[in-house]
Amino acid sequence: MDQAETVRTPASWVVVGLDNGGTCNNATVLDATGRYLVDHLVENPSLVTDGPEPAIEQLAEAFHNILELTSTPLTLVRAVGLDTPGPASAAGVISSKGATNFSMVSWHGFDIRSALEARIGLPVFYLNDANAAALYAHHRLFGAEAMTKSSVAAIVGTGLGGGVVVNGSVVSGAAGMAGELGHVQIPLHGVLEVGQPIPECNCGFQGDVESIASLTGIKKNLLPYWLTRFPDHPLAAEPLPQAAKKLRGLAEQDDPLALAVFEQQAKAIGKMFTIAANFTDPDAYLLGGGVVEAAPKFRQWFLDTVRENTQLRDEQRAAATFALVADLDMAGARGAAVAALETVQPA
Ligand SMILES: [Zn+2]
Repeated sequence: MDQAETVRTPASWVVVGLDNGGTCNNATVLDATGRYLVDHLVENPSLVTDGPEPAIEQLAEAFHNILELTSTPLTLVRAVGLDTPGPASAAGVISSKGATNFSMVSWHGFDIRSALEARIGLPVFYLNDANAAALYAHHRLFGAEAMTKSSVAAIVGTGLGGGVVVNGSVVSGAAGMAGELGHVQIPLHGVLEVGQPIPECNCGFQGDVESIASLTGIKKNLLPYWLTRFPDHPLAAEPLPQAAKKLRGLAEQDDPLALAVFEQQAKAIGKMFTIAANFTDPDAYLLGGGVVEAAPKFRQWFLDTVRENTQLRDEQRAAATFALVADLDMAGARGAAVAALETVQPA
């Protein structure tokens, strides 16, 4: 141990979290005691649509910018956590078929983790954005107890992302595909109405959680069906994509069609949490996404409906927590930072 090391307090080394999105990067700094040095979004353009080279430069700029902003010397940074939208391998190689955010051919099979590591000269740890958000939600909920607790998180957006956390760490799986909760197929009995067509997912599965509990599922499956049940509804006159986006606002005003759609979503998530209960029996079931930003009465009703449709044994019910995930806009960068901190400082 060098002399400087012996006089440093634990708080004097840090990790950096970088969240790469379709439009922006967001960056944060986490010190060794678990304190974030930034309490807001610090963004720069991600330029992912320009291809890997400009995008890696933008990530390097985000990294150096956040150090400057927090007056953190480069020498104190032990590691960097990076998250991006998937699909990508556990080691940070973008899918060879490309991905929604990485459609240019030069991205196909691109090793974004190694490229950033080479560019900034520090160890980079990778996870996908949904797993990063799940990890952050877990640590935020459990704080000092996080490393002894487990959780499962469902984040409802365009798709349904999520993650499984056991003893404070994300379960990533052999191929990096663990925690793809959106593509878990669920029993549809009690979820669908009599005569309702089986929902289809973009992944090719029928009746998985994302085919119901996502904006894509609303547009593709739920809204077309429910409009046949409410033929005189004003949304029937609108194109489906616009109509789908108006549903949350309508649900907040107790519109019966909108509530029917969200009730089906909540039931589908409850069925998936029931599978999770029998699989990892987590301490917490976490729910995030657009619903969390909705009016308090609606989001509480949604969470309650998810809970009512999660079939737990009495012992599990007594032990488990259901909670909403907050601060989702910073969750990617913060979760990526937590992953990096855990890797350089194992529990
Ligand atoms: Zn699917």
